[in-house]
Amino acid sequence: MLSVEEHLATILAAVRPAGPVRLALSDSLGLVLCEDIRSLVDLPGFDNSAMDGYAVRSADVEGADPAVQGSAVTLPVVGEVAAGGVATIPVRPGEAVRIMTGAMLPRGADAIVKVEDTDGGTESVEIREGVVVGTSVRPAGEDVRAGTVVLQAGSVIDARRVALLAATGHGDVLVRPRPRVAVVSTGAELVAPGGRLEPGQIHDSNSHMLEAALSECGAVTTHRLTIGDDGSEVVRVVEQLAEQVDAILTSGGVSMGAYDVVKEALRGRGTVDFVQVRMQPGKPQGFGTVGERDVPLFALPGNPVSAYVSFEVFVRPALRTMMGLLPAGRPALKTRLMHQLRAPAGRIQIARAVAAQDASGWHADPVWGQASHFIADLSRANALLVIPAEVTELAAGDEVEMWLLDGSGGRAPFWQNAVRPLNGGDPGAFAQDSADPDPVARDSGASDGPALTHVRADGSAHMVDISSKEVTAREASAAGRVLLSADAVAALRSGNVPKGDALAVARIAGIQAVKRTPELIPLAHPIAVHGVDVDVDVADDAVEIRATVRTADRTGIEMEALTAVTVAALTLIDMVKAVDKHARITDVRVIAKSGGRSGDWSES
Ligand code: AMP
Ligand code: MG
Repeated sequence: MLSVEEHLATILAAVRPAGPVRLALSDSLGLVLCEDIRSLVDLPGFDNSAMDGYAVRSADVEGADPAVQGSAVTLPVVGEVAAGGVATIPVRPGEAVRIMTGAMLPRGADAIVKVEDTDGGTESVEIREGVVVGTSVRPAGEDVRAGTVVLQAGSVIDARRVALLAATGHGDVLVRPRPRVAVVSTGAELVAPGGRLEPGQIHDSNSHMLEAALSECGAVTTHRLTIGDDGSEVVRVVEQLAEQVDAILTSGGVSMGAYDVVKEALRGRGTVDFVQVRMQPGKPQGFGTVGERDVPLFALPGNPVSAYVSFEVFVRPALRTMMGLLPAGRPALKTRLMHQLRAPAGRIQIARAVAAQDASGWHADPVWGQASHFIADLSRANALLVIPAEVTELAAGDEVEMWLLDGSGGRAPFWQNAVRPLNGGDPGAFAQDSADPDPVARDSGASDGPALTHVRADGSAHMVDISSKEVTAREASAAGRVLLSADAVAALRSGNVPKGDALAVARIAGIQAVKRTPELIPLAHPIAVHGVDVDVDVADDAVEIRATVRTADRTGIEMEALTAVTVAALTLIDMVKAVDKHARITDVRVIAKSGGRSGDWSES
């Protein structure tokens, strides 16, 4: 088996940056510039106005001051100039020319009075506030001088640089081109999405995923094909594509099954080899170059998550190299785990996770489905966690490396906090983004009555934002009892409850209920449950129920403990109601809690 580094090194040694081509600016986004760019013009191109207003000689309006009565100056308006027009009429002493934003400054004028400081007149204008030389004038060449280098070869073109290229007069640019890539899904079971599935068939998601992933990293998919498990067809298609494209991706048919024809068909074609990589998912990998143009071919595993992770780990760095970019394409960050994670020994695990950032840093919640067929959990994730080969167990709070897959999960810019709707029915209410335990009373300005943290003054519900609280280990215990008749107690003790093992069912029900608490209690946050114990003890006149629940999260777990006790009690009643119609639940309460800001507490 090869390490990830070894396999990636083989791949990167086989690919080269493509030679430059000249492309229209509109096709250049994300590409690497291969020439120094000099501005063809001054920016601004000529002295012009930054405001709608009046071009004046500043000396004429010097004394105007809105605080001083009778200081306003009235000037005749001798002309008008708009953006795109040529200022032909000069401003002589004692005159004004009406001017729009971006319009050329008339000869003689040295400042602009903005329209808000005037009466807006067209024949003559009353100027209420004076200006100094240069006010609201944008001088020619202030931003860029014609002939200066504004972008150097090697720059990556983004939206801001597109603006600069366009403004400095460049309609096309010399860049490294997008790799043209063919995607080939293999598998007799595959049907195009939208097509009807016969028994045993599935929709081909890999070729669409790969096309999208290629586009995300700046490449173009020129061919997207689906072919069956037919080795000679695989060879024929690959030979044809090798003459037309810059890279070929296949998916499926590379593991140990009887129909893994890609491996059989392509092994030894060009330099193609099939190897096992110490990585999960994505152990089986094929790579080599084919055809006279040494086109790189990646034979990726068929499981969708394996194919995606293989793309991220091996294909993306290769394509970026071909585009003249640094191979590592994802920002690698450190994050803390929100709950424990097991990883296989001896293989790097690339786990999928939902990551978010708060004031204390990044936190990543590994998705539940870490097997390589869980497409929904893959789509939920916005990050990959890189767990080194020697690590097999990680606890909540441990630090790991993370590749962020997109821009999501970060802290929202502050203005988004002000426009995040709370609920559909109450568009005027805004969620607070603070861990302030009492944000509502302050928010609404309500001053009478007790401050409610979960309900606003107008009665609308409010789930407190806990994102800036610290993740801490927490535990809560709750207890309660079900009062029972002597007959029911005897039946429980002798195991003769007609419906079955009531105590066992109650225990399981309590555990199950813990996982449903946020669905049952409207404003309880969904939190990671790390452990649940439910104990039931038969006393002389009652069953005593006790539940202990553990987490590492930002909010307490008391509601989960209470739900466990309550549902266990209800279940017990359901199990014994044929024996005891008067069974009664009492004394459900929290008896102990630990962790969190408010500290430890217990009933005794
Ligand atoms: P294979 O590597 O061909 O044995 O495929 C492994 C698993 O991935 C099987 O469950 C296949 O059905 C599934 N699979 C293969 N190709 C695709 C595809 N293009 N789209 C979705 N699932 C696929
Ligand atoms: Mg297959």
